[in-house]
Amino acid sequence: MLEELIEKVAVLGREKFAPRAERYDREASFPFENYADLREAGLLGLCVPKRYGGLGADFATYCRVAAEMGRWCGATALTFNMHACSALWTGPLADDLDMTDAQRAELERLRAGHYRRIVEQGAIYAQPFSEGSAAAAGKAPFGTLAAKADGGWIINGKKIFASLSGAADYYGILCTEDRGDRSMRDTLYMAVPKEAAGLTITGDWDPLGMRGTVSRTLILKDVFVPDDAQLLPRGLYFKAASAWPHMFMTLSPTYMGIAQAAYDFTVQYLRGETPGQPPVKRRMYPTKQIAVAEMYVKLAQTRALFERAIDAAKVNPSKRERLDAYAAQYTIMENANDLCRLAIRTCGGQSMLKSLPLERLYRDSRCGSLMLPWTAELCLDRLGRETLYEPGETDA
Ligand SMILES: Cc1cc2nc3c(=O)[nH]c(=O)nc-3n(C[C@H](O)[C@H](O)[C@H](O)COP(=O)(O)OP(=O)(O)OC[C@H]3O[C@@H](n4cnc5c(N)ncnc54)[C@H](O)[C@@H]3O)c2cc1C
Repeated sequence: MLEELIEKVAVLGREKFAPRAERYDREASFPFENYADLREAGLLGLCVPKRYGGLGADFATYCRVAAEMGRWCGATALTFNMHACSALWTGPLADDLDMTDAQRAELERLRAGHYRRIVEQGAIYAQPFSEGSAAAAGKAPFGTLAAKADGGWIINGKKIFASLSGAADYYGILCTEDRGDRSMRDTLYMAVPKEAAGLTITGDWDPLGMRGTVSRTLILKDVFVPDDAQLLPRGLYFKAASAWPHMFMTLSPTYMGIAQAAYDFTVQYLRGETPGQPPVKRRMYPTKQIAVAEMYVKLAQTRALFERAIDAAKVNPSKRERLDAYAAQYTIMENANDLCRLAIRTCGGQSMLKSLPLERLYRDSRCGSLMLPWTAELCLDRLGRETLYEPGETDA
């Protein structure tokens, strides 16, 4: 199944996504055509469990398929991550968590509706959790609040960098249940439909890279959603964030794909086989050969950590597996950008013209280290602490 899925995405990527990527990047516009193709190919339901009509991809399968997508269009892969997580978190990840029978029944009921929207109506989900505070780093409760009302919830707050803004059918909003003292344990995960009264999209979008994600600001002002808008029963998001840490690694496949694309571009360019370019060979220079060899080593090291970390992903991973996940995320995000840097240095001036994809890969790759909650800095921060301290240990 994995090979078939990867092949399907490779064909779409090569024939459709890659030729369109320059336009989305230039216009900073959302890849609607790519999503129509994903819908037609049945890939919107990639992570929806099979018994709900989806393709039933588990965590590692998702990561491998997403890495292939990232090879052809970073913005499509990054936004696809937001959509796919809505099914991954509520499906295979949630199934692993300790729950009461009542919670399990509630989960079944809530997600049945959610998956129906994806599989039968082709709905797309965004995943806005960033707020410009410590919440997205996983260090404070979300400032967006949901207050219980008759038959549903009233949500108020603001989300920054909401990829798929204006394109998603539903926004998977992470917010805190408003009941006095705010606690991360009270995090709720809510599907807010795009047409909800009180939901507005503001701000412009003209960033360095990942321009096709269209990640603008969402304002939620007294937005009412019914009870079944909850994507997870109360308390489950908090449990997942603690017990299934790899759930925050799902942005890295996009950048694994970009790293591969930078290497692929370099080989093709030095062989004089870049489409639309004069067939000038540059591969005979020993300096180029050494540079490509170094790129290959860096790519292989990066992929090795990626593969090991995604295969180890599970509920309650060992300390070593958790640390390896931080190390993999850090390495993928930093090395993707470094491989793009090496590609431009090695291929030379003409390779960074806007008529070729490399300069876009370079700009897109720069964004990887900035993605909360596992930014490159925060991966080091966690590694530093968790290597030296066991849970609960202090120096007091
Ligand atoms: C192209 C793109 C698409 C995005 N799409 C989405 C999306 O769909 N959904 C979404 O929720 N977010 C999205 N983001 C946002 C992203 O995950 C980060 O939230 C955002 O980049 C943080 O920017 P900031 O300036 O607010 O960072 P700040 O919060 O100012 O943080 C700056 C840096 O400081 C460090 N830092 C932050 N908080 C702490 C802390 N408490 N302790 C120690 N160090 C800390 C981190 O290393 C961080 O990178 C996207 C970002 C980009 C660039």
